[in-house]
Formats: sequence, C-alpha cells, structure tokens
Amino acid sequence: MPLTNVQARDVEALLHPYTPLHRLAETGPLVLDHGKGVCVYDTQGREYIEGMSGLWCAGLGFGDEELIEAAKEQLSRLPYYHLFGGKGMEPAIELAEKLKEIAPMPVSKVFYTSSGSEANDTQVKLAWYYNNARGKPQKKKIISRIKAYHGVTLMTASLTGLPANHRDFDLPLAGVLHTDCPQHYRFAEPGESEAEFVARITASLEALIAREGADTIAAFIAEPVMGAGGVIVPPAGYYERVQEILAANDILFIDDEVINGFGRTGNWWGCQTMGFTPDTLSCAKQLTAAYAPLGAVLIPDAVYDAFVEQSRKIGTFGHGFTYGGHPLGCAIGVKAIDIYQKRDIVGRVRALAPQFAARLARLDDHPLVGNTRAKGLVGGVELVADKATRRAFDPGKGVGAACARACEAHGLILRALGDTIAICPPMIIAAEELDALFDRLERALDDTEALVVRDTLR
Ligand code: PMP
Repeated sequence: MPLTNVQARDVEALLHPYTPLHRLAETGPLVLDHGKGVCVYDTQGREYIEGMSGLWCAGLGFGDEELIEAAKEQLSRLPYYHLFGGKGMEPAIELAEKLKEIAPMPVSKVFYTSSGSEANDTQVKLAWYYNNARGKPQKKKIISRIKAYHGVTLMTASLTGLPANHRDFDLPLAGVLHTDCPQHYRFAEPGESEAEFVARITASLEALIAREGADTIAAFIAEPVMGAGGVIVPPAGYYERVQEILAANDILFIDDEVINGFGRTGNWWGCQTMGFTPDTLSCAKQLTAAYAPLGAVLIPDAVYDAFVEQSRKIGTFGHGFTYGGHPLGCAIGVKAIDIYQKRDIVGRVRALAPQFAARLARLDDHPLVGNTRAKGLVGGVELVADKATRRAFDPGKGVGAACARACEAHGLILRALGDTIAICPPMIIAAEELDALFDRLERALDDTEALVVRDTLR
C-alpha cells in the first residue's frame, strides 16, 4: 500500500528507536492520533486495543481526566523548577513521601530522574560513590543477567543483556558482568527440574563472585519479572538464594521495578511477588502512568548517610538532571499513586490475573506457541519452529514481527521481543476488553501460522 501523507512525512523526518530501519519505508509507520481508555486510534480513525500500555507504562490507559486535571493545575501553578542547590517544591516532596510510604523496604531518600535509564545509570554511580565513601574503592563491578533490560545509556545498555544493545555500539563497558538468565524453558539442561536449574545457576553466580572477588563487586541488578528480554518469570526459590549470596558477599541488590512497579504483577512491587527485599530500587513508567516522563531511585539509610559524610569531606554531591523531579511529572505521579490506591489497582490486577492466565494458557495448544508465561497482567508468548524440541525460528524470518503486524491488522497493538510476543495491557482493562484482546491475538497467530506454512517470510 502506498504511504499516506503523514506516513511519508514521518519516514522523511524521524529516526525511529528499535525499528528495522531498512523496512520502514515499505511497511510504513503506524501514526497514532489519540487515545481513550485502553484504545488508541490512528490518523485514519482505526481503533487498536493498546495491549502493551505503550511501552509497559500507560497503566491507567488514555484520557484519564483526573491525571489531565492534575497536569493542568501544576502547569499553571509552577511549570518548572528543580531541586539543585537545595531548592524544593511541593509536588516533588509529596511524591517522595508517598514513595517512601509504599516502598517495599525502608527508604531514606528519593532521587529523581527523567527516565528508567537515568534511574539505573544513577544506581551505578551511587553504588560507586557509596563504595568510595566507605573506603572500598576496588568494589565497583556490577552484575547483571543475560536477557536483562535496564536501559540504553552507555552504562545501562551495558547492563542490558541483549545483543542488539551491544553489537556495533562497542558495548558493554568494562566492569559489567552478565550471569545466567533465570529462564527454565530456554536455559535448563535436558531433564533438569526447576529446583536443579535454580541450584545450578545460583551456584554459577556464586562461582562468578568468587572468581572475580567479592571485594571488586558493588552491586547486582535485576528486574523481578524480566520484561524486554521476553517476559521471563524466574522459578521459585531463585531470588531467595540470590539474596542470600549477595548478602553474604556485601553486594547491593538493585531492584529494577521500571516495568514491575505499581501493581503490574499483582502487588505494588515485583519484588513482593517474587519474594525478595532489595537494598535500593529504580522506578519510572507507571510512576506517572506515562502521562509525563519521570524516574526515581529509592535510597536506603546506610547509602544516604555515607553520602552525607562524603559531602562533608568533598563538598557538593555532584549528580543531578535538569528535569529530575520535574513538577509536572511529580504532580502527575502523586495523582497516579492516589488513583492506584483509591481504585485499588492491585486488587483489580489480582482479580483479572486468573482470566489473563487462562486465556494465555489456551494459546499453549497453538502450533506456533512453544511456551507462555504470566504474572499479574504481564505475559509472554514464545513462538517456536518446533514445539517438541523447542527449536527457535531463524531470527532472519522475523516471525515475531510478522505476528505483531498481524495483530495490528486485527486492531491490537502488541510487541514482538524477538519471537516472544509481550502482552501488558492497561491495568484498568475490563474483562470483556481482555477477552477481545486475546480473540484478536488468536486470529493473528493463525494468520502468522499461515505465513509460516506458506514459507512467505524472509
Ligand atoms: N528498566 C527496565 C526494566 C525497562 O523495561 C526499561 C524500559 N523499557 C528501562 C529500564 C529504561 O527505561 P527508559 O526507557 O525510561 O529509559
């Protein structure tokens, strides 16, 4: 189909993130115009269920009047201020108080950023600064995991454990170590039980720490349920053992709640769902329900106290972003948390989770589906060439991307992470809308299977 005028202008003017650029002029961008509830509408007026909450972030859907009102009010009162040099403003204070109240561990202070990447980048700088402050200047390496996603800045892209984020960007940077991915379906040895798998990969983490030397390792970073790596839910017992190993080696546990936070997995925080207590925590995305960019780092007493001591010695604490704690984001964040609480979003996610899990499990019988997994209202559908052997498709065929395009044709936006289709609908989704989402996905899977059978994918 020839491109519409707006599509042609888009292709002419934009470098699109995470997009096969060589195909864009041919496939055409999907240009969205407006949104309402769980749906978005393109410039032709076509409706799509937004099954990914945008990028795992628009958890309250689109057009929420309360959030819009909070934004308008803040913009007319004080559209910008910052926190540098000891300045303050009410929305930043109130949001920090709320975050301390709902945090899954004791928190001393909140540090704001504009994004999840900046939050995790800050985590690394804080861990380094902390270890310098407490006289452990050698303790600097960071352990992440294969298939992790922690962002795209130089350091966070290094922590991310996906080839596309490293290859040809000259990454990862030195000092980043990647340990095993806790996905039983893909990485277990033949016949290995989940318990045996957990024992093996946690022993491998211990061995890595011993090999490198615990006195050279500052922190371990993890998303409780891994998102962009393919919606991976680690087996029972995994985090318990990881936490023990980190504690025994004086290694900070950084919890990346950028996707998991604010109810997504059926608790306020993914660490509560997955059973661990972190030392520090990063959040963003649903922090503002995506109505404005904002990230936050939650810092414990021990770390903050060390910073104050360091400041006494060397002067100012030299880190901060122009838009960290932007009043628009903070005012929306306060309102978003208020809505999560008064509309009992966690309760909603828990109530919908059985339907979500059941519809997802129904896909297991589809000829293209090798594995499905879910927690709360986030799930993944892994497409394979051979169900029995779990053989993956040749990545060059782009089967996942073809399935995402088929979803679009049926009025559904989902995201292909390689050949895993991610599902992460707004947490306000109604039961009928959730059924409609899965009905459309089932049709898209059938269409994709037809393409695979006809072998028309490149
Ligand atoms: N951490 C996780 C777990 C994420 O999913 C993301 C974004 N998808 C990030 C960090 C980076 O956030 P941002 O894109 O806001 O920089």
